[in-house]
Amino acid sequence: MFRLYDTALKAVTEIEPSDGQVLKIYACGPTVYRTAHVGNLRTFLLTDLIVRAAELADFETFVVQNITDVGHLLNDSQDKLLQQASLEGKAALEIAAYYEEIFHQDLAHLNIIPADVYPHASETIELMLQLIKLLIEKDFAYIGKDGSVYFAAQKFADYGSLSGNRLENLKPGHRFGGEVDENKNFHADWALWKIAPDTRTELVWDSPWGKGFPGWHVECTAMSLHHLGQVVDVHTGGIDLRFPHHEDERAQSNAATGEEVVKHWVHAEHLLFEGRKMAKSTGNVVLLSDVIEKGYDPLALRLAFMQSRYRTQLDMSWDVIKAAHIQIEKWRTKAQSANEEGFPLEYEKAFTAYVLEDLDTPRAISVIREAEKVLSESAFADFLIWADLFLGLDLDRAPKQVVVPQEVLDLVEIRSAARMNKDWAESDRVRDQIAALGFSVNDNPDGTEVLPL
Ligand SMILES: [Zn+2]
Repeated sequence: MFRLYDTALKAVTEIEPSDGQVLKIYACGPTVYRTAHVGNLRTFLLTDLIVRAAELADFETFVVQNITDVGHLLNDSQDKLLQQASLEGKAALEIAAYYEEIFHQDLAHLNIIPADVYPHASETIELMLQLIKLLIEKDFAYIGKDGSVYFAAQKFADYGSLSGNRLENLKPGHRFGGEVDENKNFHADWALWKIAPDTRTELVWDSPWGKGFPGWHVECTAMSLHHLGQVVDVHTGGIDLRFPHHEDERAQSNAATGEEVVKHWVHAEHLLFEGRKMAKSTGNVVLLSDVIEKGYDPLALRLAFMQSRYRTQLDMSWDVIKAAHIQIEKWRTKAQSANEEGFPLEYEKAFTAYVLEDLDTPRAISVIREAEKVLSESAFADFLIWADLFLGLDLDRAPKQVVVPQEVLDLVEIRSAARMNKDWAESDRVRDQIAALGFSVNDNPDGTEVLPL
């Protein structure tokens, strides 16, 4: 039995395909105006873990992940894509294509199995217009004073049951920093279609209500209903999307269909890095490229994530990533002894049971550590290769045999001497020389470590 924590139920519950065969999954995707940081990547990994677990449970999967390239507002009027485009002096869709490419590369680096479909918001406008028309017909949406179309939150009686934010408890202006929007009938209503100001020339489309652009929440409803139909078995996303994004999405989808469209909402918890929230404003943003630049295997991040459960808040650190990097290299060395003679079934059963019980990856990994102590070299290697179907750490890859050239070792000596003399300029200069030779130096309490870039 495969179980996951359902945010709406606030309980671990059984997950099965509604049609008995294919588990239909909708994953909230990236807004492609910047590179996703490692906290976002943890959320994207959740969907991959569900797909791999579903395979252990003998379910097929079908995954849709949207690419938001329009409509994600920074505040009441500024689109995130357009703002970044003006900062970089490029066209909005150029920005979107650039960051989407990085997104796919990052997923590939983390062995995240790609979604079956990646619909783009900008290519789904017609579907959104149809949906908005339907919501107006069903009296769940209205045209506001500014001509924009809004969803009438009070018409959806069950609003708030996903996040606990009931309408009577929401204060006016909760959406955008206390500003009350006079265009809406009720403060908790949200825009399905925004009429564009005359100054906006990019990312605008004609509609029955005038030139404008879609709201962010309506994108996910339109895409999920189109690609998955009226049943979504599992909807994933970061916990910060639970409200208002998923609450609003649920209201739209259920209002449009008259059904409870999403069977289970599953959310990944926040990630801290070195004890701090990751945010541009605090200068604490770590990207996958930073991990790679430090000489670590990107899959070290994947293992480091899996050492905690997806729904616990995780404080990631460079030490944890480094330890995971070393662990993967050790397992790759051991996996070389695989000879396909097999391993005791009890380990497969224990590993699978933990994975299927709400993705208890820390305990699943502890089964590997236990097996390492007990099994013969070849049996352990075979177990590793089998477990890697879920872990996705490329354990069958030969470990890197890193030979640090003498030239680099000499430079490391020179740099250490410069640091002893507090000659930071010289130390930085030598570090650059070492980097030019393809190595990184990391100083930590045990000394200086040299890793290939
Ligand atoms: Zn979404």
